[in-house]
Amino acid sequence: MTKESRKCSFCGREEKSVDILISGTSAHICERCVEQAQHIISEEKIARGKNKIPSFKLLKPFQIKDHLDQYVIGQENAKKVLSVAVYNHYKRILYSSKKESSKDDVELEKSNIVLVGETGTGKTLLARTIAHMLQVPFCIADATVLTEAGYVGEDVESILARLLQVSDYDVAAAERGIIFIDEVDKIARKSDNPSLTRDVSGEGVQQALLKILEGASVNVPPQGGRKHPEQKMVQVNTQNILFICGGAFDGIEKKISSRLQTNLIGYGLNREQEVVDRDNILQYIAPQDLRSYGLIPELVGRLPVLSHLNPLEKDTLRQILTEPKNSLINQYKKLFEMDNIKLTIDDEVLDYIVDKAVEFKLGARGLRSICELIMIDAMYDIPSYEKQEKLHIDKDYAKKQLDKTNISRLKVA
Ligand code: ADP
Repeated sequence: MTKESRKCSFCGREEKSVDILISGTSAHICERCVEQAQHIISEEKIARGKNKIPSFKLLKPFQIKDHLDQYVIGQENAKKVLSVAVYNHYKRILYSSKKESSKDDVELEKSNIVLVGETGTGKTLLARTIAHMLQVPFCIADATVLTEAGYVGEDVESILARLLQVSDYDVAAAERGIIFIDEVDKIARKSDNPSLTRDVSGEGVQQALLKILEGASVNVPPQGGRKHPEQKMVQVNTQNILFICGGAFDGIEKKISSRLQTNLIGYGLNREQEVVDRDNILQYIAPQDLRSYGLIPELVGRLPVLSHLNPLEKDTLRQILTEPKNSLINQYKKLFEMDNIKLTIDDEVLDYIVDKAVEFKLGARGLRSICELIMIDAMYDIPSYEKQEKLHIDKDYAKKQLDKTNISRLKVA
């Protein structure tokens, strides 16, 4: 074949009309046909993936909880509830993949979860730990950036786009993933009067969320957002995606208390009900409290598993510092170990860190900020200038470091 007559063997375009022509032993292909072939391959992979029978090890609830125990301190109720919900969720996926071939008509419903608890009590950590253990795609979305379609902000579909991205566009994997929607309390209806004015951030978003939560085929822009209007939509079925919603629901205690109060009055005094632990009202939370807080009943109905997280007491904070598998202190030890430095910290210092976190109401997140303040000089100096094999931190050193800074600036609003 002469050079002049070379053509793409697929589309027939001549060499001079294409940018790149790749030659094989007896054929040529142009860059456009390569791109198109690539496209066909990915679509074919998606189509075949959809029919794949999922293969994963079904862990028993106690095994799931055992795993959570290694990373999350306390929060027994939430861990138990979550373990059972996740177990049932995965049984349901296995069941529905087998069901197609049998005549069984029992429909197992999805068990989306809502976790209520102050910020920094471990809601995200629980969801992340579960996803990591199950080795399924996991992503975190923030409900506060969501708006109804057509408004400035992100559409609800963008959540699914993110899940697709972390699944490396394996739709079948994404369809069994877990999505953690944080700050779901922030899309609560602001007033009891539903639709006098349009409520951009509240009820409309709840309606949109409802659709993906209950299980639907949704057209998802794979790159997310509206910046790429030309992108081809990918269909994602949310039926087997587990949604875990989290929120602080500030002030919900009042709704719970008043419900408890009405129950006591309404149904006659029951001696057992009278004993209410006023210090932790959240433990009595029920779906109707989420409704009075401003979530629409349909959404509450789609979040059948409800659990609360306890506020972190001093003892729990102290445990969080050292006990989880990747506790803060273990992480610092590791960092220094990589520079061949053995880090030791007096117990007194750990108590001091916790005292400061409690004093300034910094919660578990504050533990890290305080540790950073204490360690910053050592982490800067030792690897840079000093040749030493050990670093010991005692209370005097910790106190001196903290006194140098204004710790109250760590306080989160
Ligand atoms: P939330 O989602 O409830 O606001 P996070 O799960 O993001 O809180 O918690 C913030 C950080 O605090 C976590 O990354 C973890 O280091 C620590 N933490 C909070 N609660 C716990 C807990 N119960 N056990 C272990 N670590 C915790």
